Amino acid sequence: MVVVMVPGVDESQIEEVSSRLRLMGLTVHRTDARGRVTLGAVGDLGSLDVEDVRHLPGVQDVVRISVPYKLVSRTFQPDSTVVTVGKAAIGGNQVAIMAGPCAVESEEQVDTVAAAVARAGASILRGGAYKPRTSPYTFQGLGEEGLKILRRCADRHGLAVISEVMDTQHVPILERWVDVLQVGARNMQNFVLLRELGRVRKPVLLKRGFSATIEEWLMSAEYVLAGGNREVMLCERGIRTFETALRNTLDLSCVPVIHQLSHLPVVVDPSHAVGVRDKVPPMACAAVAAGADGLLIEVHPHPETALSDGAQSLYVPQFEELVVRLRGVAKAVDRTL
Ligand code: PEP
Ligand code: MN
Repeated sequence: MVVVMVPGVDESQIEEVSSRLRLMGLTVHRTDARGRVTLGAVGDLGSLDVEDVRHLPGVQDVVRISVPYKLVSRTFQPDSTVVTVGKAAIGGNQVAIMAGPCAVESEEQVDTVAAAVARAGASILRGGAYKPRTSPYTFQGLGEEGLKILRRCADRHGLAVISEVMDTQHVPILERWVDVLQVGARNMQNFVLLRELGRVRKPVLLKRGFSATIEEWLMSAEYVLAGGNREVMLCERGIRTFETALRNTLDLSCVPVIHQLSHLPVVVDPSHAVGVRDKVPPMACAAVAAGADGLLIEVHPHPETALSDGAQSLYVPQFEELVVRLRGVAKAVDRTL
């Protein structure tokens, strides 16, 4: 339920309404936007009479949220969330580019990519240090050492850092070295991890599980917001369908659907969706045309020797060319890049 307060209402009335809602067993999330205070009250509304709340002093309106996700919904927050990460404001007019290797392999590898993607126009450096690999016998990542490499290279080239967190135990380590904590597709419904990320004071990029519906994905985001962290970005990275031509099927229609249902920014990862590098540029362009707020793209200085996801990693010159094309697409849909 969203309780909309009268514009310019007294703090004491806001406090009074909040405490009444808490007495009803609800959790209250306050939002101040454009001179108006709204109180999102979540919990079991079963026996609650909305009219009782509507008549409290200072209340202008009460709106029931009919969908199961609450804090994530546009009804709760009509204005789009803008997540600030270094130089990027994701969810605003500018499309943000996050780029880098699938996995951190060495300082030299990351530094080469960081220099190139920064020059081309990316604002955030990606790289996995804790890798969720299908096989336990393949490269599992460099762990904290990898995060330190990312941090150093990003700082050298004026970039922010995004990296995946796989385990609650690693959250403090990630918090120390990165600017955005990524939840991978395989962990989208790791509710213990999501709860922990609700307590973190850094943005979270939540990837869509490859068998998750949009509603399930939004419910996962709700866990993070309910825990107190409102800086969540959603990332579409392809889902499993009957189609086998590519690694996954990029569900680009989720971009406008989510923009309607939720105020959270939507990022698209064409690399993991298609799995082969020559299909990455057209899908990246399509994502921007569809309204994506950001892109997550794998780039490697020598993809043929990459320790993971070489087949889908762009060569540096391909990435540079892509960014030029993306600028044109962004302009055509009234965005900047
Ligand atoms: C990644 O971005 O490195 C990754 C493992 O992606 P996903 O979780 O989408 O498979
Ligand atoms: Mn990868």
